[in-house]
Amino acid sequence: MGPGRRRVRADVLVVGAGLAGLHTATLLARAGHDVLLAERRARLGGAVRTTGIFVRRTLDDFALPPEHLGPPIRRVVLYPPSRRRPVTLVSERDEYRVGDMAALYLAGARTAAAAGVRVLLGTRYEGGGRSSFLLSGPDGPVRVRARFVVGADGARSRVARDLVLDRNEHLLTGAEEVFAVPAGERPPTFHCVVDPVLAPGYLAWVVDDGRHAHVGVAGYPDRFPGGMRRALARFSATAPGLDGVRRPAGAEVERRGGPIPVGGMLRRIGCSDGLLVGDAAGAVSPLTAGGLDPCLRLSEHAAAVLDDALRTGRTDALAHYDGAALRARFRGRLALRHGLARVRTPAVATAGFALLRTPPGRAAARRILFG
Ligand SMILES: Cc1cc2nc3c(=O)[nH]c(=O)nc-3n(C[C@H](O)[C@H](O)[C@H](O)COP(=O)(O)OP(=O)(O)OC[C@H]3O[C@@H](n4cnc5c(N)ncnc54)[C@H](O)[C@@H]3O)c2cc1C
Repeated sequence: MGPGRRRVRADVLVVGAGLAGLHTATLLARAGHDVLLAERRARLGGAVRTTGIFVRRTLDDFALPPEHLGPPIRRVVLYPPSRRRPVTLVSERDEYRVGDMAALYLAGARTAAAAGVRVLLGTRYEGGGRSSFLLSGPDGPVRVRARFVVGADGARSRVARDLVLDRNEHLLTGAEEVFAVPAGERPPTFHCVVDPVLAPGYLAWVVDDGRHAHVGVAGYPDRFPGGMRRALARFSATAPGLDGVRRPAGAEVERRGGPIPVGGMLRRIGCSDGLLVGDAAGAVSPLTAGGLDPCLRLSEHAAAVLDDALRTGRTDALAHYDGAALRARFRGRLALRHGLARVRTPAVATAGFALLRTPPGRAAARRILFG
C-alpha cells in the first residue's frame, strides 16, 4: 500500500492519549462528534512519564476511579541541602493521592471507546494541516480528513509546529524510580529536598504513600553538574524517609522521566484548523510543575470550544480559545518560578529555609502546597 492510501474521515483528530487527549476526545464524543484518537505508544500502560500526584482540587472536581488512586497524603516534609532541621507541614485534609497511571490511562481509553472514540494505538501522527493529516500505524500509513486537529501530544508537540502555534521553550526535565514498598509505621508523606546541585531550579522528591515510593529529581537540564541520571543515582542512594525500607533492584524498579514545560500557558494555542491541550499548550503550573490538574481543566474548555465550532460551523469559534487570557492566571506562579530558578547555590537554598521556618514562611509554604 502506498503512502497515505488508506483514508479515514472524522470530525476531530486528537493526537496523543495522555490524560489531556483522552479527556478531550471523550468529551467530544459524548457531545456527539466523530473522534479519532491516535497514540504512538502501542500499550497505554507502558512508558509512563509522570509521578501521578493528584491534588485535592482535582480529586474534588474530576471523577477519577478511586480504585486506581493510592492512599491520601497529608504530610509534607521540606528539607534544605544539608537535610538538617527539615520543616514538616501537616494538613487537616487529604491533600494528595498518587495515581496508578497505567491503570488510569487504560480506564481512560475504555471510557473513551465506550463514548464512541476510535482509539488507534501504535499510531504516530506524522504531520499535516488544512484538514488533511498523515498517520502511520501498525498496518501502514493512513490519511485522515478531519475538520479539526487537537494537539495533545505533549511538551514537544509536533501538532503545534504544523499549525504554526506557540511552542514550549522553558522546560525542566525530570526522572524518577518507582518501586513497591511494604506498608509500615510510616505515615504517607511527600518529602521535598531543595538542593540546587541535585535538582537545579526545582526539587528532589520522595513520595511514599505506603504502597509505592517514587524517588525523583527534576531541574533545568543544562544545570545538572554531572547530568540528571547521576543526580538521580546520588539522590536515590540517600533518599530521605526510606530508612529501613527494603529497596528492590533491577526489573522491580520502574524508571520514568520526561520534559516538563514551566514557561506558563502559551499564548497562541488555537487557530482555525485546531488547538492544543495539556503540556502541548504549556498548561502546567510553572512553580509546582503540576500538569495533571491544568490538563484536565483545559481539556474541558477545549472540548466546549470545539463543540461550539462544529455545531455552528463558524470559523471564528476557535478565537475564544486564547492562551494569552488564560496565561494571566499563572502570573504569580511565574514570578515564583523565576525566584526558584535563581536559587543556584546551597547557601541561597539554606538562607531560604531560615525564612521558611518563620510563621509567615510556613504560612506561605502551606498556601503553595495545600492551596
Ligand atoms: C517526571 C515527571 C513527573 C511529573 N509528576 C507530576 C505529578 O506528580 N503531578 C502533576 O500534576 N504533574 C506531573 N508532571 C506533569 C504531568 O505529568 C503532565 O503535565 C501531564 O501528564 C501532561 O499530560 P498530557 O496529556 O498533556 O501529555 P502526555 O501525558 O505527555 O501525553 C502526550 C501523549 O502524546 C503521545 N504522542 C506524542 N507525540 C505523538 C505523535 N507524533 N503521534 C501520536 N502520539 C504522540 C505520547 O506518546 C503521549 O502518550 C510530571 C512530569 C514529569 C516529566
